[in-house]
Amino acid sequence: MTELPTSGAPEVVYREGLAAGELRYQRCRSCTTAVFPPRVLCPGCGGEELAWHRSAGRGTTYSTTAVRSRAGAHNVVLVDLDEGFRMMSRVDGVEPDAVTIGGRLDFAVVEEAGEPVAVFREVRS
Ligand SMILES: [Zn+2]
Repeated sequence: MTELPTSGAPEVVYREGLAAGELRYQRCRSCTTAVFPPRVLCPGCGGEELAWHRSAGRGTTYSTTAVRSRAGAHNVVLVDLDEGFRMMSRVDGVEPDAVTIGGRLDFAVVEEAGEPVAVFREVRS
């Protein structure tokens, strides 16, 4: 596993990753816990040595919720990434209430209002 030679505030490093089309996460050098969302201290052991890594962007849908508003409907999902961390995101390309729990997902970056946003798409098998 290659560490990224990057430093700075966790949120900034994460956003820079998205802008480059990458999903970045941290792993604790002490206890090897995968850490997400990015932070300063390891939630597992309190260690301060969190190294940055690039996720392969493959994961599985852990849970999904359809959210409806006047602007329309979208889904909110929790994704278990293969590297061992869980993140909140959404799945594009399917109806909001048709996301499959346990389905395989691929990471993508889309731009919304000039900001890169992390989304996922279902992998058809
Ligand atoms: Zn740790």
